Amino acid sequence: MPDGYMNKFLFVDLTSGHSNAIEVPNWLRDYFIGGKGYGIKLLNDLVPRGCDPLSPDNVLMFMAGPLTGTLAPSMRACVVTKSPLTGTLLDSYFGGSFGHEIKYAGYDGIIITGRAAEPVYLWVDDGRVEIRPAAGIWGMGTLESNQAIKEQLNDRSVKIAGIGPAGENLVRFALISCEYNRQAGRGGAGAVMGAKNLKAVALRGTQSVQVFDSDAFLQAVKKGYQELKSSPDIKALTDAGTASSVPFANEVGVLPTRNYYDGTFAGANEISDFGQSKHLWLRSEACPGCPIRCSKVGYIRTGRYQGTVSDIVEYESAAMLGSNLEISDIKAVTYLTHLCDELGLDSMSTGGVIGFAMEAAERGLIPLEIEGQQIKFGSPLAAEKLMQAIALRRGELGRLLAQGVQRAAAELGSDAEEFAVHIKGLETPAWGPRGATGIALALMTADRGGCHQRGMPLGEDLSGALWNDEPVDRLALTGKGEIVIHYQNYLAALDTLVKCDFGAFGIQPQTYLELYQACTGRDLGGADGLQQLGAKIWNLGRLFNLREGLEPQTDTLPKRFTQPLPSGPCQGHRFSPEDMQVMLQEYYRLRSWSADGRPGQEIMNKLGLSDMQTMSITT
Ligand code: SF4
Repeated sequence: MPDGYMNKFLFVDLTSGHSNAIEVPNWLRDYFIGGKGYGIKLLNDLVPRGCDPLSPDNVLMFMAGPLTGTLAPSMRACVVTKSPLTGTLLDSYFGGSFGHEIKYAGYDGIIITGRAAEPVYLWVDDGRVEIRPAAGIWGMGTLESNQAIKEQLNDRSVKIAGIGPAGENLVRFALISCEYNRQAGRGGAGAVMGAKNLKAVALRGTQSVQVFDSDAFLQAVKKGYQELKSSPDIKALTDAGTASSVPFANEVGVLPTRNYYDGTFAGANEISDFGQSKHLWLRSEACPGCPIRCSKVGYIRTGRYQGTVSDIVEYESAAMLGSNLEISDIKAVTYLTHLCDELGLDSMSTGGVIGFAMEAAERGLIPLEIEGQQIKFGSPLAAEKLMQAIALRRGELGRLLAQGVQRAAAELGSDAEEFAVHIKGLETPAWGPRGATGIALALMTADRGGCHQRGMPLGEDLSGALWNDEPVDRLALTGKGEIVIHYQNYLAALDTLVKCDFGAFGIQPQTYLELYQACTGRDLGGADGLQQLGAKIWNLGRLFNLREGLEPQTDTLPKRFTQPLPSGPCQGHRFSPEDMQVMLQEYYRLRSWSADGRPGQEIMNKLGLSDMQTMSITT
């Protein structure tokens, strides 16, 4: 019976040049479902213990889920690998058409290992696989190389995920770009591609994805669309994208400003949807099969950056390249975001790294100038020069900063740790946690380092959402563990379906369950089943991180957040080491982990992780 799956992985060994299709074992499909679940299990099974993420032995996996390529609304794709920035598991999600095309080409995922002797790109055409030379496009930006590959293949409809110069130069926070405006940004998957001499993966497919019960599936799809249509959160996203969160974050005092020194910024309105709509936007755009249309396309019509064609500057980029660098000129922020995309740099980490560099220059730890520009807060020209130096690893400063904040601070020594803002090596997102303890706990315990997409209770901490029908005290150190674990599990489960985070703002848990059941003919076991699935994946991810040497002491906040906030509604708030321990001990206990943060045998048995089969792949 059809069940939404293609039941095959494509496995490619770039060292030998061999590839083959592998049947997805039933036990893997039934137990880990897709996307994140597949990825975390295969990381445990296929990546050798202690593997250097930039070595040929690391695996790079593009994964779809059972609903990908169907009519289910707002689905994406994910890439899973061991991160060169954090050494943790890395799963990073991106919109566009690439995920759907994996299925149309005949696969549930593409698993790549080894390293090509010369730059190459992978061309997968309806199950036919070719490794093609990429010397002619090596060095090109993400958009230019995307176009060049389409021209070579003489087909503009080919779907491409590729890297820019940053990935080629092994910048540890390089991204993978899909089409021109969708990125798997966080954690440095682009550097893993670069280390494999793999410029891009190009896909074309004509196969269709068949579901188990098409009538029931269409009913569930309609329900999902209705939920999206009637949600005020989704309407806000459609109207103004995530940039509308800038004034909110500023008002509640968590907008990163001046390398997270502060939580409010005088220029907040200018970098928000207000400033962007005034100067940039022309029309809305969407990923295929998504009614939300969170993207806006525009271009800069006047001034120094005239002619730059841009996508919307979403909240994280607006804050990290705007307020965090004290830049309020929205045209400059737009240009810097565009430059990150074209060079293949994660704009969030880049904003963190450049904020760190600006403070380091102020403190005399690095040179005061780069290529004639003074390195100082508020200077878009300095930010631009720093970005180019990082992406090309140009000069001593480019080399130092291309490693990310954690490694740069360790190399600089002195008091650099005081203002190095990262968790487990991942530059933190644009939600400063001082004055919002649930956010702090979610960041400390996120599986890929300080990340905002792993169960952050923004609504409960900051905008009055109730938990168990009760209001939540944003400053309380206890009571947050239960909320964070609920969201971490829920989102890990939905990431196995490879949903878009924004879709999950509107589509209800029951509807995801109905979509899955009608698509596959199998049952996830209701809301509890989603929690169980998420817990299983979360625990397996924790085991991978522990195996790779990420000790529980890394569940902590950077020193900057132990310093009091100077202004705003959270003025004076900070976290002490004791505060963190109170929160972590509650969290560990509720996870049934030991007091030092390790999953024990009891929880492993309960989740069925003790006697798992192992996947091994050979060509
Ligand atoms: S909400 Fe935005 S990013 Fe998500 S699938 Fe829709 S258009 Fe793509």
